Amino acid sequence: MKIGFIGLGIMGRPMAKNLLKAGHELVVFDFNKEAVADLVSNGAASAETGKDLASQCGVVITMLPNSPHVRAAVLGGNGVAEGAKPGTVVIDMSSIDPTESRAIGAELEKLGIDMLDAPVSGGEPKAIDGTLSVMVGGKKELFDKYYDMLMVMAGSVVYVGELGAGNVAKLANQIVVAVNIAAVSEALTFAKKAGTDPELVYQAIRGGLAGSTVMDAKAPMMLNRNFKPGFRIELHIKDLNNALNAAHNVSSPVPLTGQLMEIMQGLKADGFDKEDHSSIVKYYEKIANT
Ligand code: NAD
Repeated sequence: MKIGFIGLGIMGRPMAKNLLKAGHELVVFDFNKEAVADLVSNGAASAETGKDLASQCGVVITMLPNSPHVRAAVLGGNGVAEGAKPGTVVIDMSSIDPTESRAIGAELEKLGIDMLDAPVSGGEPKAIDGTLSVMVGGKKELFDKYYDMLMVMAGSVVYVGELGAGNVAKLANQIVVAVNIAAVSEALTFAKKAGTDPELVYQAIRGGLAGSTVMDAKAPMMLNRNFKPGFRIELHIKDLNNALNAAHNVSSPVPLTGQLMEIMQGLKADGFDKEDHSSIVKYYEKIANT
């Protein structure tokens, strides 16, 4: 069965390449012609539109920035729904608003098309290694059917519940990541201002209780002044916005998320929104004048 793959950005491109490497037949689509050409040179076929792609595939994976992009690619003109046969399955691996996942899924259901939401965590390095963490919402039997295919891109694939549950898990993930990056930024900026070498402080604390995957991924970027994305501030703002909405909808206060949103808005105002989210440290450096 051919797999359609729409969205060949920082994440989608290596994920699609891993599916090809595992022997799957792929048809790809993205507005970015260079990304499409790269996948074609790795053995994929290309399609001119999402409609054209879906007409050839039993399953369509989307890896797009946010809810409006997924809605446009799936339900918009020349989109997946126009070409897909009943029985096709859309697996949206983008991080989007869970309410939108459910709404898009409901529209597709009317056409006999099923949907899983299966956002990922781990960033570009794990997308390249095929060791992402995938969190899946939707019908359990569909999860079981596509588990092996998802595992090609992942180190873990976990079923979380009905459609939308995958994106609830992803928003929880994004809260933890944002707060953790801010904690690392706050600690290293303090360490520097207090006259210590932040590199040595990082080496001293990373093996203790403070150590984390986030610390090991992001502290070296801060210390080496490498803010190349990775995960852009603008995408994390999108996730925190979705998290604030989703949390408020169920009356679950998220005060740290609110604070991180304001910090990231400050970074955006300073023109850092295209940088990696490790540039949160720049906010601390600004307020600490260091
Ligand atoms: P990206 O901006 O690098 O890539 C998005 C791609 O989608 C681009 O190539 C763009 O041309 C394409 N696109 C947009 N709209 C389209 C449409 N209608 N039809 C076809 N192609 C379209 O984004 P990314 O960093 O790869 O992130 C993708 C998703 O994965 C986002 O939801 C993001 O939050 C999530 N995510 C990213 C990371 C990361 O570290 N970058 C980690 C985990 C999850």
